[in-house]
Amino acid sequence: MNAKPVHAAQTLFPVADDCLQVGGMPLTRLAQRVGSTPFYAYDRRLLGERVAHVRAHLPPAVELHFSMKANPMPALVQHLAGLVDGIDVASAGEMKVALDTGMEPGRISFAGPGKSDAELVRAVAAGIVVHAESEREIRALARIGNEIGIAPLLVLRVNPDFELKGSGMRMGGGAKQFGIDAEEAPRMLALAFELGLSVLGFHIFSGSQSLKADAIIEAQAQTLLLAERLAGAARDPVRILNIGGGFGIPYFPGEAALDLAPIGAALDAALPRVKASLPDAQLSIELGRYLVGEAGVYVARVVDRKVSRGQVFLVTDGGLHHHLAASGNFGQVIRKNYPVAIGNRMGAPRETVSVVGPLCTPLDLLAERMELPQAEVGDLVVVFQSGAYGRSASPQGFLSHPDAPEVLV
Ligand SMILES: *Cc1c(COP(=O)(O)O)cnc(C)c1O
Repeated sequence: MNAKPVHAAQTLFPVADDCLQVGGMPLTRLAQRVGSTPFYAYDRRLLGERVAHVRAHLPPAVELHFSMKANPMPALVQHLAGLVDGIDVASAGEMKVALDTGMEPGRISFAGPGKSDAELVRAVAAGIVVHAESEREIRALARIGNEIGIAPLLVLRVNPDFELKGSGMRMGGGAKQFGIDAEEAPRMLALAFELGLSVLGFHIFSGSQSLKADAIIEAQAQTLLLAERLAGAARDPVRILNIGGGFGIPYFPGEAALDLAPIGAALDAALPRVKASLPDAQLSIELGRYLVGEAGVYVARVVDRKVSRGQVFLVTDGGLHHHLAASGNFGQVIRKNYPVAIGNRMGAPRETVSVVGPLCTPLDLLAERMELPQAEVGDLVVVFQSGAYGRSASPQGFLSHPDAPEVLV
């Protein structure tokens, strides 16, 4: 028999009296508190627990940074700023939110291709660490540093000569718009030296959304070897070594949570050698979705229930315009369902339904032919794993429906 793979049980949010509890209160009450649907809710307790879980498994010598583009909600970033060691931003807009948290500027880093001169001036003036991704950025930093009389804090983002195998999103290895190719790094180190810039270290990010501990262990081992190799060409001691992240979360049927224990153990075993070869290096990992993805839900209300040629459709007031990723249109090759529930009827008898949004496009799907508790108009559809790449990664203007508010509870 071919059993259909199902979603891992969503056990992070408790259920009481048939109702999902978010932020310690029934979802129905939270919806009243928010005042309108759809909305995103992020659970503080789960964010704190997730950071503690990572810290419990990683060696204490490795710092934990939050990759803010996964969720830039200011209140959430403020909350995490008190729990992590650094914030990685990818635009001047994100830089502002990170600085507003009171995080020490030297613990904020700015990566991303195509940084404008205006963004670089702001970053140097702020005293944050700039991860240069090209020769142009290195030259611009030297010029800006001279012009405004502040020494830039410079790290080279290196495009590694390997990739994180089996990752959902490849962001290193091969030809990429990210970082400086590893083989070009020695020339860029020499250029920075000529321009009077000191290089604080390296940022090597090889991929994202991996659920395979073995693949992450292998990528981390290769990352450390590459850093040691590059250090041989550096004029300054390596002080900052960001080894990337890539820890994934289970979204789709058949996927299971990543086991951090072997990753932590492998890193711990490698540290004595790194300490000997790069004695001044502070190691860090950068995580986005792993820290915030599972702590968030997207909540929409059923506004219509209809049957078309035998198939039940729940039409909600939310959809693709707020949650592109759950609709399957944010980089997925084959559409699969995110975990979805009827938050105010967790235990009702089930039926097979499709959950759609109000947009006039067949792409506006939140769940396709999924077994869900029987729902009626007014019920609350919950999309789990929605704390990362949700609202800020969605085309809210498409079809001019209202925005989705976000709450941190
Ligand atoms: C987006 C990004 C991350 C975060 O990826 P997640 O999959 O959310 O953990 C980390 N590092 C860099 C350089 C990124 O661009």
